[in-house]
Amino acid sequence: MVVIGSGPIGAVAARRIAETGRAVRILESGPAISDPPGSHVRNQDRFQRDPDSYLAGISSDFTYFDETAPPRELPGACVTAAVGGQGVLWTNNCPRPAVSERGELLSPAEWDRNLGAAERYLGVTNHTFAGSVRQQRILDRLAPTLAAAGREIREQPMAGRLVDRATIHYVATRDILAGTGIPIETADVQRVIVEQGRAAGVRLADGSTVQASAVVVAAGAFDTPILLHRSGIRHQALGRYLTYHPVLYSQLVLDAQLCGDTDDLPPRLWIPPAPDAPWNTMVLRDTNPVPPSPPDIDLPSNQLVEMQSFCPVDNHPDNTMTIADDGAVRFDVPLREADNGRMAAVLADQHELAGALGRFRAGVEPQWMTLGFAHVMGTCRMGASDDGTCVTDEFGQIWGTENLYLATVGVIPNALAVNPTLTGAALAIRSADRLLAG
Ligand SMILES: Cc1cc2nc3c(=O)[nH]c(=O)nc-3n(C[C@H](O)[C@H](O)[C@H](O)COP(=O)(O)OP(=O)(O)OC[C@H]3O[C@@H](n4cnc5c(N)ncnc54)[C@H](O)[C@@H]3O)c2cc1C
Repeated sequence: MVVIGSGPIGAVAARRIAETGRAVRILESGPAISDPPGSHVRNQDRFQRDPDSYLAGISSDFTYFDETAPPRELPGACVTAAVGGQGVLWTNNCPRPAVSERGELLSPAEWDRNLGAAERYLGVTNHTFAGSVRQQRILDRLAPTLAAAGREIREQPMAGRLVDRATIHYVATRDILAGTGIPIETADVQRVIVEQGRAAGVRLADGSTVQASAVVVAAGAFDTPILLHRSGIRHQALGRYLTYHPVLYSQLVLDAQLCGDTDDLPPRLWIPPAPDAPWNTMVLRDTNPVPPSPPDIDLPSNQLVEMQSFCPVDNHPDNTMTIADDGAVRFDVPLREADNGRMAAVLADQHELAGALGRFRAGVEPQWMTLGFAHVMGTCRMGASDDGTCVTDEFGQIWGTENLYLATVGVIPNALAVNPTLTGAALAIRSADRLLAG
């Protein structure tokens, strides 16, 4: 069997297949950008010592579709061709989707089973930063007010572990595949070869072919639809219903009573989406890419936390990623009234939370990150019937094929507020199980 793409979701699918004893290989078009290949870039000493340099340090690892595009054409949309995909760059937050945003394709028991398996493969732990003084104090301060509003705050599940007080090990493809012996082969897949509804293998850029008994396309939310289009697989829903997260970012200077010692562990807290606040917020000390202004230039790290709020954009059939025959890609995802209303509420929410914890750091007041950078989903959605609104069945199997599956956050059919990789991995495990049962 062949998995196309070595990002975290491709790695999870490949591992699931390998655990049954079946032979599987991963084909990856990008080079190794970390040492050892497929390990997390952020595990390097320089980023452990200076986390705020991280996003600048990885900026050359992104290829943008069109950075000059207007906001509705997603200037932030980008891909990373690398061993490990964007999973060697991510910030590893792995919340489960709220029950209200899971949709009806899986039963509650199936969600629990597959999310649990995905958490094991991704090494997700909930209590990594339990020793953080700031974390406990922020939690104590915010919990009562949030509870009164039907919301909660808790530790942020994360794919990683603390090696020592100054070192976090971030999980990436290499960790997911550890001990499996699954090879990652350099191969730029040009098309999936489908004959009478069966995937026979793939054709590579050098003209050679790789035969396969089944193919799983795990090329990310953008390159998966592009590869399908190039392969002549062009379902009506391909590239439609696109959803993503506008991200509101800020940094706070904490009240003195909330600060820990200078060697305090960084906090990593999560305010899950709730019916009256359907967005996803993290309060954490992770990495700050935004230059502060006077008088807040030099502040000790133990006085600071960031807030990141992920605001879902409603699914709409006219939210499109259009792929032309020459491969050119164009996005059109206008923010509609409900999206703008939600974004205004998120901004008000960050102001309220900041008021309860301290104040915004000068220069790092709330700002929207470039639209389209984070968490694009729905580009090749799954669904219950072949009615033109989805590309695959509820197991990720492309309609009209027998052995061609997708494993990507692109299959997530509904607008999700939480960071999507864990959900994508859970769905990929379920898809792999269906493939193996076939
Ligand atoms: C800075 C940053 C922080 C993030 N933080 C979080 C977070 O905290 N939590 C979270 O849930 N998500 C986060 N994400 C998103 C997360 O990284 C993605 O959801 C995840 O990487 C998707 O995994 P994937 O395997 O589907 O795709 P990718 O990681 O994009 O991997 C796809 C792979 O397919 C390969 N490929 C593409 N086309 C071909 C082809 N034709 N032939 C061969 N190979 C091909 C690519 O080279 C790539 O390696 C973050 C992303 C970034 C950039």
